[in-house]
Amino acid sequence: MQSIVDAVRLLAERGLNQGASGNVSLRGEGCFTITPSGVSADVLRPDQLVSMDMDGAWSGAWKPSSEWRFHRDIYAARADAHAVVHCHSPAATALAVLGKTLPAFHYMVAIAGGVDVRCAPYATFGTQELSDAALAALTDRRACLLGHHGMISIGKDLAQAVDIAVEVEFLADLYLRLLPLGEPPVLPAAEMAVVLEKFKSYGANAQAPITAA
Ligand code: 13P
Ligand code: ZN
Repeated sequence: MQSIVDAVRLLAERGLNQGASGNVSLRGEGCFTITPSGVSADVLRPDQLVSMDMDGAWSGAWKPSSEWRFHRDIYAARADAHAVVHCHSPAATALAVLGKTLPAFHYMVAIAGGVDVRCAPYATFGTQELSDAALAALTDRRACLLGHHGMISIGKDLAQAVDIAVEVEFLADLYLRLLPLGEPPVLPAAEMAVVLEKFKSYGANAQAPITAA
């Protein structure tokens, strides 16, 4: 599972996570593999990753991420999710503190699958309440913000989940630069529909359809 370790390191190198913040998982056959709780990117090793059943059972020396519930619930609810990334990236988290939805002020918002990136209301980290709020905010989307906390992205593979997290962070940073000048104008819904259609056949991310399980 070197790919998970590589993704965790990339998120740290790109400034999307720091210390032991955030977590990453990858879907398996009736199970998923997730980062251990509280281990920093710079010391994380593949043998510390935790394989979990869909009922939350696990074994081994390392405790799974405290956020295993939303990783598990995303895999259970979303057949299109094969990887989940959670980070406390600065701009997305700043927006999440304000409880703000990222609107369609830039066409790349469509990378998350719709006309906006919603912000889930705050709930304590590691709780079922947070998982429920995240799942609702992810409806028909590949990313959401978590109030007073951070961001989640999901992908058809780890590369897509990481790409979406990087792009949402870029967009959140742009949006924060614009806000002091006034609420930025948004693209019309009809234009976002055109962009969403074009994204179905665009680039390496040629989007796998969003599907509920
Ligand atoms: P873990 O180290 O337990 O994965 O927790 C980090 C985190 O981001 C909690 O929301
Ligand atoms: Zn977190």
